[in-house]
Amino acid sequence: MKLHEFQAKEILAKYGVPVPPGKVAYTPEEAERIAKDYGKLVVIKAQVHVGGRGKAGGVKLAKPEESREVAGKILGMDIKGLTVKKVLVAEAVDIAKEYYAGLIIDRSSQRVVLMVSKEGGVDIEEVARTNPKAIVKYPIDPHKGLRPFEAREVVKQAGLEGNLNRLASAIVKLYNAFVGSDASLAEINPLVVTADGEIIAADAKIDLDDNALFRHPDLAKLREVEAEHPLEIEASNYGFAYVKLDGDVGIIGNGAGLVMYTLDLVNRAGGKPANFLDIGGGAKADVVYNAVKLVAKDPDVKGIFINIFGGITRADEVAKGVIKALEEGLVKVPVVMRVAGTAEEEAKKLLEGKPIYLYPNSLEAAKAIVTMVGGAK
Ligand code: GDP
Ligand code: MG
Repeated sequence: MKLHEFQAKEILAKYGVPVPPGKVAYTPEEAERIAKDYGKLVVIKAQVHVGGRGKAGGVKLAKPEESREVAGKILGMDIKGLTVKKVLVAEAVDIAKEYYAGLIIDRSSQRVVLMVSKEGGVDIEEVARTNPKAIVKYPIDPHKGLRPFEAREVVKQAGLEGNLNRLASAIVKLYNAFVGSDASLAEINPLVVTADGEIIAADAKIDLDDNALFRHPDLAKLREVEAEHPLEIEASNYGFAYVKLDGDVGIIGNGAGLVMYTLDLVNRAGGKPANFLDIGGGAKADVVYNAVKLVAKDPDVKGIFINIFGGITRADEVAKGVIKALEEGLVKVPVVMRVAGTAEEEAKKLLEGKPIYLYPNSLEAAKAIVTMVGGAK
């Protein structure tokens, strides 16, 4: 479960990480009242579950007298498909340096890994791509936890400047917050050294492990349906296992394993999946029709790959659903299909002459759809 910045900051504050004072506003007037209470320069920040808000124009400095207008511009803004319904109004931080500190669960080392970089503020994925050496990674012993001297060593290695003890102490507290709230990710970007040498978390991101939420009823309450992607809400109404991803190939399959395999194949062919969608077992034509309708509605989708292995799901039922969606003109992008198993022959007969590219095997189908959406990325 993703948390908003203001919620992540509340958790960090509880564990002693310094964060700027801030309050949430739902209207420009409310934002102005908060800013006037602080009586100094504020930063107004869109609260949506995506990164890169700054670049998208969702983070702006404002004097109290400008705050109403600035908040008015950010509220209602669309950031990567999400509408901004609330903003955080926080006392602006006087930034001297912007660093990065983050914790993730690393499957290969089977540990929580601390990452620290001098190149904070910007997109850390970009740093990882262009200058991976600028990120120091440190796997943490789960029995001992992160000890201050280790954090200090990492901070030193990463070349951070300022009061290293305080930087290390903020990072140890970040680790305590991560473990204490059963997070799967926690990051501070930027971790700021102010002009006065103070250390403060100017931005925070925490993802919680859904499977541990029962241990944190207070955190479980923070879930918001409205913050989920609109297509995810629609999919959950249909009862689909659907996850929105950031590529352009729509994926539909039956069975979570097959769908994951299909995502891997598209990746291997150089493409990027736009979603995960499992229609489940034994889906009838109307279920498939809804699935195709949903995926085709995603403006990011430039092509659809339907991968069906008929078991209790009959391939001809799938074909009927797909054909219905196509005949209603709901699909404006190329559709590639691979069908095998139960009622395969019936399905192929139904699909004959339809505007669908049928492939005998999954990898060929993956390569074809990647070519159709413009080739490997
Ligand atoms: P993100 O783009 O979604 O990661 O949002 P951030 O909260 O990280 O803000 C993006 C950038 O805006 C930061 O890297 C800073 O450069 C700037 N910024 C954010 N908060 C403040 C602040 O309090 N003071 C100043 N001067 N700049 C800020
Ligand atoms: Mg940030």
